[in-house]
Amino acid sequence: MRAGIVIVGHGPAAHRLVQLLRRYGYRGRIGVLGAEHRPAYQRSLLGEVLGGRLRPPALTLPAVAEGADVRDGVTVTGVDRRRALVHTDDGGSHPYDTLVLATGARPHLPDLPGLRAPDGAPADGVTALRTLDDCLRIASAPGTGPTGAGKGGTQGPGVVVLGAGVLGVETAVDLRGAGHDVTLVHPAPHPMENRLDAPAGLLLTERLERLGVRMLPGRTPLAYRSGTLLLEDGGQVPARHLVVCAGAVPETSLARGCGLAVRTGVVVDAELRTSDPRVRAIGDCAEYQGTAGGSVLTAWEQADVLARLLTGGRARFRGARSAVRLRARGIDLAVLGGPDAPGEGHCADEVVTLMDRTRGRYARLVLREGRVHGAVLLGLPRAIAAVAQLYDQDLPAPSDRLSLLLGTPPADDRGGPAEDDVVCFCGGVTRAEVRRSWRDGARDLAAVAAATRATTGCGGCARDVLALGGGARSGAVEPVDGGPRRLAGLLGEGGA
Ligand SMILES: Cc1cc2nc3c(=O)[nH]c(=O)nc-3n(C[C@H](O)[C@H](O)[C@H](O)COP(=O)(O)OP(=O)(O)OC[C@H]3O[C@@H](n4cnc5c(N)ncnc54)[C@H](O)[C@@H]3O)c2cc1C
Repeated sequence: MRAGIVIVGHGPAAHRLVQLLRRYGYRGRIGVLGAEHRPAYQRSLLGEVLGGRLRPPALTLPAVAEGADVRDGVTVTGVDRRRALVHTDDGGSHPYDTLVLATGARPHLPDLPGLRAPDGAPADGVTALRTLDDCLRIASAPGTGPTGAGKGGTQGPGVVVLGAGVLGVETAVDLRGAGHDVTLVHPAPHPMENRLDAPAGLLLTERLERLGVRMLPGRTPLAYRSGTLLLEDGGQVPARHLVVCAGAVPETSLARGCGLAVRTGVVVDAELRTSDPRVRAIGDCAEYQGTAGGSVLTAWEQADVLARLLTGGRARFRGARSAVRLRARGIDLAVLGGPDAPGEGHCADEVVTLMDRTRGRYARLVLREGRVHGAVLLGLPRAIAAVAQLYDQDLPAPSDRLSLLLGTPPADDRGGPAEDDVVCFCGGVTRAEVRRSWRDGARDLAAVAAATRATTGCGGCARDVLALGGGARSGAVEPVDGGPRRLAGLLGEGGA
């Protein structure tokens, strides 16, 4: 490769950066070196593959802009900052004018006896979920075929998911939806304890149980011994396969190796500059003001800022607004604002709470100066859509807070969603734009994504996008072979 911009990693952050560099008029050389042996894909939709609803190719992000030299299956092994060169595992070396680290994150594997093989990788029967290959490994592991649980089938040891953070909850629901017996083991008293208060945590636990996930909250793992997870209280959980969802750690080994400043992630300033001005970092590997990435939206914002800067524009990254929308079939849950937002309460905050245990609904809305500062919304899909939009656009909340939470339309509303309603909040894509793309010939999620960018953020809107286009009815998106779920069922579920 000739000098120019060299990007290490080919995940959503790198993919977005290349697209925006071209869009903003960058004409120089762009090289992309990605370790995974496949084109960039939407990692946030891995659960759709795990759940048997999408085939792996449906996750592929639209081909990057013309003129980028993309090399997948190539790992960068070292950076020589003095000579402005990167070295790769295929023996190559590539000069750069600007180097961008977009190396993402790797899954955290807790220090539990038996979890690792001697080489440090997960032991046999254990997967720490991060890549498409991990999903395929879980799906093809011996004994992880659906057991027919709940249909009178033989009950053997099922799949055990360790860790009930966002990813663990989504993974448990996806696997359960694909017909597996699933046990979710979590040391804290309730799932997602960093983001949910106790009442919301209780309702989420009950919802998961109703979906058929066996919940073991408040149980601390001690060790893993050939097919059994041992617990501190003496309990034993047989596991045909153990899926570890214990968080992710920014991938910083290259940055450390070449002497860049690293704390949890690669330290960057508001212009995504590392401690070497010729090296930038974006996405999950980057740490800004003490917070490392962790969401597609943050990766995209950083890619946008960097693309503007590298094409002569002015831009600054101001930090990410925290918003989590659980992507789990049958559970409508959103948490807006940082972990302290819903509950801590600033003296000037207005807090509105609603608890409807019988119907599994919970809301806690924190308003500051009339705007949404934070929220936990469970079992309230209409409120999630409305509140997320207010939060995202920093708009004043309507004075009737309860109507907002219950999703009651205002008196002059004729009912039904409007065509200019946003369906993909990550990409700011409206219903009308999605419909137009279907009308213009898009026949599957990848084509809609290429035309509109819908679904290429957190992926949580995939079901709504399919429903708008009738993609399932056209047979364009099919479940993985053998997957027990039918997409038509998926669209019908949860009132999509
Ligand atoms: C199962 C799952 C579900 C998720 N769901 C959501 C969600 O619903 N919403 C949301 O916002 N986020 C979600 N996330 C997080 C989201 O996927 C990440 O925030 C996003 O992928 C970050 O993009 P990235 O490009 O920075 O990093 P990554 O996607 O991690 O990509 C980095 C790439 O760099 C490569 N790389 C690393 N080191 C090297 C090297 N030395 N040489 C070459 N290549 C290298 C890696 O192999 C990888 O392919 C989810 C993550 C997972 C695993």
